[in-house]
Amino acid sequence: MMQPRLDYRAAFCNYECTTCTEICPSGAILPVAQEQKKLTQFGTAKFLKDNCIVYTEEKECGACSEHCPTKAVRMVPYKKLVAPEVKEDYCIGCGACEFACPTRPYKAIYVEGKSVHGLAKKPEVKKLDVKVQEDFPF
Ligand code: SF4
Ligand code: SF4
Repeated sequence: MMQPRLDYRAAFCNYECTTCTEICPSGAILPVAQEQKKLTQFGTAKFLKDNCIVYTEEKECGACSEHCPTKAVRMVPYKKLVAPEVKEDYCIGCGACEFACPTRPYKAIYVEGKSVHGLAKKPEVKKLDVKVQEDFPF
């Protein structure tokens, strides 16, 4: 009652946003810089293979990975498809994956909250090996 609650069926915590930390009047949520917030692990995602449509219906999905801002959810080969895999070290618990997951009534990916915040690993930024064509044809 009267305490902040994150409901990832209704929405998720925006990766860039720190508004709650700026406006909390009681100090229950302390101010945090955006870069620090992006590494603050307030939960971790859990994957339930038995609910995921890639496994249950052999259908393409990947909504969880597409919406994950840290790429803690990666897609790995599964038969002729790709299926999610969670790297918890990179997960901050934002809930974007849970919100995006289409399975009902139970999500195939959900966030388990942490009673004590952790520190997530910094997302890896990979350089794309793309050669730019100098004389663009049009
Ligand atoms: S909660 Fe889901 S979307 Fe958010 S960082 Fe973790 S795996 Fe990615
Ligand atoms: S969004 Fe849900 S159903 Fe789709 S691949 Fe991810 S876990 Fe599976």
